[in-house]
Amino acid sequence: MVALASPKPITLYPAAATEGGAHAARDAFGRAMTYLRISLTDRCNFRCLYCMPAVGMKFQPRDEHLTDDELLRLVGLFARLGVTKLRLTGGEPTVRPKLVELVRGMKAVPGIEELSMTTNALLLGRMAGPLKEAGLDRVNVSIDTLDPDKFKLMTRGGRLDLVWAGIEAADAVGLRPIKLNSVVVRGQNDHEVGTLAELTVERPWQVRFLEIMPLEGVGDVHDQGLVSSEETLARLEAQFGPLDPVATDPSDPARLWRIRGAAGTVGFISPVSAPFCAACNRVRLTADGMLRLCLLRPDEADLRDLLRSGADDEALERRMRVAVWRKPWGHGLAEGERETIRGMSQIGG
Ligand code: SAM
Ligand code: SF4
Repeated sequence: MVALASPKPITLYPAAATEGGAHAARDAFGRAMTYLRISLTDRCNFRCLYCMPAVGMKFQPRDEHLTDDELLRLVGLFARLGVTKLRLTGGEPTVRPKLVELVRGMKAVPGIEELSMTTNALLLGRMAGPLKEAGLDRVNVSIDTLDPDKFKLMTRGGRLDLVWAGIEAADAVGLRPIKLNSVVVRGQNDHEVGTLAELTVERPWQVRFLEIMPLEGVGDVHDQGLVSSEETLARLEAQFGPLDPVATDPSDPARLWRIRGAAGTVGFISPVSAPFCAACNRVRLTADGMLRLCLLRPDEADLRDLLRSGADDEALERRMRVAVWRKPWGHGLAEGERETIRGMSQIGG
């Protein structure tokens, strides 16, 4: 694993970090936050073995979740802070009531240029069309195997045929480019990475292989099942021959490759073996209204309390800017640190 050397932070807290208007929110290392991932719910219609424990999963009371109006107000403020890209996630975002109207509202916020969603696609067969029409630009779909029995095991009950129909519906209505996320778990789907990668030969899709992260509730799955991106790449090259590197935007956590002659690409997301913190431009809003500064560190700022206390926009914006300023550098996985409070579905992966 690679330990991350931290650059020196800017020690003075500049006035621009707290002023509203034209100044994008930056952290103390100079990284501008232009990308917000919003968890719409901690609930899900699957129970993926690398995301939730088999038993003992506790869900937050619904009144702790931000309402649609609260979410839209915060999105407006984030846009003033320089956020241009939103991704809806969860839990499973498609189980949130009135999702289509929420998408319409978010896409209408001035400054929001791109709105995407990460989903398990179980409900996408019927929702893809309305979501596209409401302004959703594209989707990332999680799919770890193309074997229906294995799929049922890994998701603890999910139906691959419905998920596949969801992916096809998304493609048909133009929620493109289609990106598929596959968490590689030793002894579960590691022998299937070639079958998944082969989807890119005929289709202009991006199939991305993720290293498992040791979040709360799934530490043992990580410890027993982690497969490094290096190992997955070697497996693909043994099957397809040398893969060609494809240039990527540094803020994209996926490093891309192409099977020779393929229409699409394969990507590797390697938070464990090759952290991408230097180019991180993202913060997260949890379903219960916490501004989460790093996926893997518990630093959060409570926006819900302030919202519900009747705070004005200036007070909210100030709390957001001050929080962004103290965004941590590096996630500490290499040093053996772990998130032990929230699981992936509670943070918004
Ligand atoms: N339910 C949606 C889905 O599965 O796409 C969105 C939420 S899910 C938490 C977001 C992403 O996190 C998925 O691509 C999932 O595979 C990934 N994920 C979940 N647990 C993970 C873990 N422990 N390590 C790495 N990725 C994980
Ligand atoms: Fe649900 Fe997504 Fe977690 Fe799977 S990865 S349990 S689909 S939130």
